[in-house]
Amino acid sequence: MKIPFLDLKSQILPNKEEYVEIIKKVIDDTAFSSGKYVDEFETNFANYLGVNYSVGVNSGTSALHLALLALDIGIGDEVILPSHTFIATAWAVSYVGATPIFVDIDETYYTIDYKKIEEKITNKTKAIIAVHLYGQAADLNEISDICKKHNLFLIEDASQAIGVEYKCNLGDGNENVKFKKVATIGDIGTFSFYPGKNLGAFGEGGAIVTNNESYYKRIKALRNHSQTERYVHSEIGYNYRMDGIQGSILSYKLNLIDNWNVKRNEISEKYNNKFKNLNNLVIPKINPNSTHIFHLYELSINIPLKRESLIDYLNEKGISTGLHYPIPIHLQEAYKSLSSIYQNDLEITNWAANSLISLPIYPELTDIQIEYIINCVLEWYNLQ
Ligand SMILES: *Cc1c(COP(=O)(O)O)cnc(C)c1O
Repeated sequence: MKIPFLDLKSQILPNKEEYVEIIKKVIDDTAFSSGKYVDEFETNFANYLGVNYSVGVNSGTSALHLALLALDIGIGDEVILPSHTFIATAWAVSYVGATPIFVDIDETYYTIDYKKIEEKITNKTKAIIAVHLYGQAADLNEISDICKKHNLFLIEDASQAIGVEYKCNLGDGNENVKFKKVATIGDIGTFSFYPGKNLGAFGEGGAIVTNNESYYKRIKALRNHSQTERYVHSEIGYNYRMDGIQGSILSYKLNLIDNWNVKRNEISEKYNNKFKNLNNLVIPKINPNSTHIFHLYELSINIPLKRESLIDYLNEKGISTGLHYPIPIHLQEAYKSLSSIYQNDLEITNWAANSLISLPIYPELTDIQIEYIINCVLEWYNLQ
């Protein structure tokens, strides 16, 4: 049996006719760049998340870049983020001329370890980017408190966490809590609609959300050449506009996302039930303050088990796996200028890069495929 790591055909092709109709409407209206389908998506997306403003852009990387620009972060500033994330989180910091300051991750949830943030704060620190990795929230209550105490902005990179809800302390002294969707809790939240994300476009896409009207206005302008009136440009701008086709496809798929996320959870439970009692093989844990949408399902393979041998075994059985992420950002060639800062203090990050393996998880996996994946993992385990 062949099981790809990601199978967009199984998601898209059963509804191909509907998608063709959606695209035909965009053609009929020739609303190719920005325009009514993007406006509609922005309204739908803001309503879905429960946030005041949403701006569609052409990628998750652009979304992060605009978030930092809107907060006036630039040369000489420092921004705190995890090294264990997709590299785009760090690119955006570099694009504005600021320095990424990497903090280690928590060994249980793999999101930034809030207990290690304060030791990295200096008088140059301007913001923290909390990445909601693999489909669950970083510890936003604790991170928000740190931001308030040190007067820092909080940006949420929710590229992997659309629809995740977080139990927020309301900070009213009564220990009252409220569930809010991630990306709406900090100053600005960002999303990627890269096709492989839980909510994927038919090409590239991203979005920025905020409750702050002045950030919203600035981001909207920056996205479109900072054009305040035709051919009048208030500052250096960008072409980060979203395509009309992406807007209309995303509006349609937004109605399906909660169901898809439920299915991903069901698959993770099936995996967990079979893997939870195996020594040196650790299933993903769900942060009690967060829901999980299983963008990725990460097993940790601890010594003496060998990760490469599991990858090879599954590969021979036709099952593709992934590594997220095999080289931490602080060890990338692109960031070698920063390497002197990070000697031994990203221990869990380095461990995760060598220990985690991603199993296929997408709503269209059939019971037979799921059972096959489980059986192959167990077969391998019993051979060790
Ligand atoms: C996918 C992703 C991005 C970048 O999104 P693109 O749309 O590919 O530019 C940024 N951060 C995280 C955590 C991601 O997973």
